[in-house]
Amino acid sequence: ARVPIARVVDVAVDRNRVAADAKRMRIIPRVLDDVEVLGSEELLTTALQNLVANAVQYSPEATHVGVGVRVQDGIVEIAVTDKGVGIAQEDRERVFERFYRVDPARSRVTGGTGLGLSIVKHVAVTHGGEVTLWSRPGQGSTFTLRLPAASHHREETA
Ligand code: ATP
Ligand code: MG
Repeated sequence: ARVPIARVVDVAVDRNRVAADAKRMRIIPRVLDDVEVLGSEELLTTALQNLVANAVQYSPEATHVGVGVRVQDGIVEIAVTDKGVGIAQEDRERVFERFYRVDPARSRVTGGTGLGLSIVKHVAVTHGGEVTLWSRPGQGSTFTLRLPAASHHREETA
């Protein structure tokens, strides 16, 4: 089905509202109307929800999380940017593996299972896309979900 990205962003952000408020964090979405991808709205929302949850979870109080959307060469890019702890170079591939957590001893307090990013990657790939990671340790991270845009054409009636 055609999935409006603005709605995916809205719902994913909304599902993190309580967690963000608890840390006095603001989530700032900048969406584009009329951008759609083909696939499962629920799976795409779950994927983005996981990225926003991580951004909130692995950032200090009172920082901001940005969620931006743009379209380039037929690819929809949804980028989640935080000012959090960041991810060291040697962990950047592994964080997408199931159950992998950086420094489990220290992040045990935050109580995750290490599945979130493996789900994000799975959803991206099954939608013909990918998820990439940019990070500067100690300064923050940006996770970008890249998905083929649905064309603007109405369904052919031939
Ligand atoms: P959960 O299954 O609850 O999501 P999790 O958050 O530990 O548990 P992932 O979402 O897969 O699992 O993330 C894997 C690891 O990658 C995290 O434990 C954390 O160490 C690191 N990580 C993920 N997102 C970020 C981020 N935005 N900033 C810093 N580290 C991150
Ligand atoms: Mg997580």
